[in-house]
Amino acid sequence: MRVFVTARLPQEVLARIAQEHSLEAHDEDTPIEREKLLAGIEGKDGLLCTITDRIDLEVLERAPGLKIIANNGVGFDHIDIAAATRRAIPVTNTPGVLTVSTADLAFALILATARRLIEGDTMTRNGKFKFWAPLHFLGQDVGGKTLGIVGFGRIGRAVARRAGGFDMKVIYYSRARLEKDEEDRLGVRFAPIDELLKESDFVSLHAPLRAETHHMIGEKELALMKSSACLINTARGPIVDERSLVEALKQRRIRAAGLDVYENEPLLSPGLAELDNVVLLPHSGSATIETRTRMAVMAAENLLAGLRGERPPNCVN
Ligand code: NAP
Repeated sequence: MRVFVTARLPQEVLARIAQEHSLEAHDEDTPIEREKLLAGIEGKDGLLCTITDRIDLEVLERAPGLKIIANNGVGFDHIDIAAATRRAIPVTNTPGVLTVSTADLAFALILATARRLIEGDTMTRNGKFKFWAPLHFLGQDVGGKTLGIVGFGRIGRAVARRAGGFDMKVIYYSRARLEKDEEDRLGVRFAPIDELLKESDFVSLHAPLRAETHHMIGEKELALMKSSACLINTARGPIVDERSLVEALKQRRIRAAGLDVYENEPLLSPGLAELDNVVLLPHSGSATIETRTRMAVMAAENLLAGLRGERPPNCVN
C-alpha cells in the first residue's frame, strides 16, 4: 500500500514502514507546506502526520482510499476527527510514551518561574552579577506551596508525583473526579476550577484542546489567581487567552508564567517576548531523543496495524 509521512522521522522507523509498503516522506525538519501536504496525500492508503499538519476535509478528500491516520503526538486537535470518523478512518495517537518528558518539562517551568532561572542566567551572562546580598534577586520556594493541576490525566498525574517529591500540596480539577480512595492514595484533592485558581501558588495546565477548553484561562480566570502565583502551560496554547495573559503579566496581576505552547504557534502575542516574568520554550515538552524515538515507533506500529485492516492500538475515534 502507499504511505505518506509528513515529517522527518528516525531512519529505522521509516525503514520499518518501507519493509511492508511503498513510502513517500517529507524529508526536512521544517513543517511540510500545505501544497506539498495536499499533493503528497493524493491517492495514499496511510498517513503518518504530526501536530503541525492541519488534517481537515480538504486533505481527506484527496485520499478517498485512506485507511489510517497515525498521528505522531498525543494531542489531536489539529485533525478533524468528526470528518475522519464519518469516513470510517481510524485516527491514532501516541499516549503514554511522552508523559515523563512532558511532566519533567512542566516541572522545569515551575522551578524556572519560582527561582527566576532564565532571568538569573541572562543577568549573569551580561555581567550584571556584581554582588551577593541577603535581599537580592529573590524567588519563591516551591516546597510547601500549592500546585493546582488542570486536567488530571497521564501528564497531570505525573506532574503531581513530581510535586510530591518537592513537598508541595496538590489540588486538581478535571472533567471527572477520582474516587476518594484514589485521591487519598495519590495525596491529591479535587477543587472546582475557580477554587483551584484562587488557592494555587502554581497552576499547571494539562487538559486537551477542545471546544470547551479553548480560552479556559482568560481575563476572569487570571483575575482569580493570587498576585504571587505562576501559570504553567505545556498543554496547548489556545487553552489560554494569550492577550489577557500578556496584560496580567505586564500589570503583575500574576507573578510569572512558564509557557511551552502558544495561541498562534509559532507566533507570540505582541508584548509577550518583552516581559521578564515569563519563560518561553519552543514546544519542547516531548523533545528528548528517547521520547521522540518512542513516539515515532508507536505511530508507525499504529499505522501498520491500520493498513493490515486491524483496529489499530491507540485509536481515538
Ligand atoms: P490525557 O491523559 O487524556 O489527560 C487529559 C486530562 O484532561 C484527562 O483527565 C481529561 O479528562 C481532562 N480533561 C478533558 N477535558 C477537560 C476539561 N474540559 N476540563 C478539565 N479537564 C479536562 O492526556 P495527556 O497524555 O495527559 O496529555 C494532555 C495534553 O497535553 C494533550 O492533549 C496535549 O495537547 C498536551 N501535550 C503537550 C506536549 C508538549 O510538547 N508540550 C506533549 C504532550 C502532550 P477525561 O479523561 O475525562 O477526558
